[in-house]
Amino acid sequence: MKKISRRSFLAAAAVSAAALALTACGGSASTASSAAASSVAASSEAASTSTAAELTTVEAGKLTMATNATFPPYEMTTDAGTIEGIDVDTAQAIAEKLGLELQIDDMDFDAALLSVQQGKADIAMAGITVTDERMAVMSFSDSYATGIQSVIVPEGSDIASVDDLAGKKIGTQRGTTGYLYCSDDFGEDAVVAYDNGLTAVQALNNGQVDAVVIDNEPAKAYVESNPGLKILDTSYAEEDYAIGMNKSNTALLEAVNAALEELKADGTLQAIVDKYIKAE
Ligand code: GLN
Repeated sequence: MKKISRRSFLAAAAVSAAALALTACGGSASTASSAAASSVAASSEAASTSTAAELTTVEAGKLTMATNATFPPYEMTTDAGTIEGIDVDTAQAIAEKLGLELQIDDMDFDAALLSVQQGKADIAMAGITVTDERMAVMSFSDSYATGIQSVIVPEGSDIASVDDLAGKKIGTQRGTTGYLYCSDDFGEDAVVAYDNGLTAVQALNNGQVDAVVIDNEPAKAYVESNPGLKILDTSYAEEDYAIGMNKSNTALLEAVNAALEELKADGTLQAIVDKYIKAE
């Protein structure tokens, strides 16, 4: 069984963003009749000095964020029904810098990815890993966090490393890198795609799968609230998280990257992370 190591896409994402900015398409008006984000193409020359007034968003005055709020601590639903987490606070801080009101749309993870591609949301934030395949269909901001694909197993499991997943049933979330890596490495028949991390972990608790492959931070949260489960010491892959956007909205991409840079430089992003991820 091969040893899996997947590398960071940060540099590639940055290069792609620059390339997009340089080649911003010259606005042959989209045939879509809706007021989709694609209408921004015509004002691409103004991209470098974007303000809220120049930004075209799905709903005027709003920054619509598609997410999947079952991914703690990046996005989760509180008992009171509100959505909070690192991605939510970061999006809120970006929206404030852009002079827009943040609106959150909760949906399945794969739907969140599609939502920006179809111009139904301005940004997708859901602990989204930058991959070459996704970069072909959407644009990504600079990376704001690192993720690790981890393996959750029941205590006492004979699975001790990623290689031991061979021949086992593996639970993942539909449309995620965990699903893609596992089906590449162990075959589609070995992998079950659940709606979200919560249902994947429930399936593990019920013995329907032998392991769950999911990002490390949600893995920690799920293991903490489900006694009898543990995370393997060896991780599956290392990834970069970034904000997904519609390829045509280069003005928004530039504005989001500028806001992110400020939030990194003034310590806001670190403070948000520290609020949700306590030092061990
Ligand atoms: N980081 C993983 C991916 O992008 C999973 C994200 C998620 O489940 N919210 O595929």
